[in-house]
Amino acid sequence: MEGIKERIQQIQDTLPENVTLVVVSKYHSIEDIQQAYDAGIRDFGENHLQELLPKVDALPKDIRWHFIGTLQRNKVKSLLPFIYMIQSVGSKKLYDEIERRAQKLNKSIDILIELHIAQEESKNGFTEEDAYTFFEELTKNNEITPKCRIRGIMAMATNTNDEVLIRNEFMLLKNIFQKVKNRYFKNVSHFDTLSCGMSNDWKIAVEEGSTLVRIGSAIMGPRDYKK
Ligand SMILES: *Cc1c(COP(=O)(O)O)cnc(C)c1O
Repeated sequence: MEGIKERIQQIQDTLPENVTLVVVSKYHSIEDIQQAYDAGIRDFGENHLQELLPKVDALPKDIRWHFIGTLQRNKVKSLLPFIYMIQSVGSKKLYDEIERRAQKLNKSIDILIELHIAQEESKNGFTEEDAYTFFEELTKNNEITPKCRIRGIMAMATNTNDEVLIRNEFMLLKNIFQKVKNRYFKNVSHFDTLSCGMSNDWKIAVEEGSTLVRIGSAIMGPRDYKK
């Protein structure tokens, strides 16, 4: 019978080597995550601190946990000691809080700047213009060594079956990524991550330049939100 392991294998067979697969394990059990781990996965994505803490405790320590959801500023302190990457940094306020807490811990943290490009309403993510303003300010005020290591950009496409729309959004995103890289991170080799593509659109995302896909239900099965 086809299970988690087989679905991971199928996706990895078609993913280019330079694309990282993050398995989104939110709402899935420790046992199921262990199965994905046993199939070789080390990168997992979660979006609630409360759900993440017991998983971190129970599962192998070499897992790289990616935070991919709305992050309240009062949760940053608890998240920082163990999180590998915060992908959903969608406001200057959140960035400032992560930077402040990371300074206190004297710990570097990899982050992605989240952009809002989809048509759905969302409180999360910078608009393209706000992102340029944000990066502009950062470059101006570089008197302290930042603890936040900006690795790139993350976004979600519109949740739709319209593949033309999805492709256009990923093309726009790649374009913004290039502009940001050229303007603000020209000689910064660690600015290398474009995180886009989920269960329904990862193939298009990869064709349009994604370097990190976040795949949940296509590997782990449907989520049970009632639990
Ligand atoms: C839930 C989630 C995913 C995975 O969604 P699937 O459609 O199950 O692959 C990816 N990215 C983010 C930000 C999510 O919240």
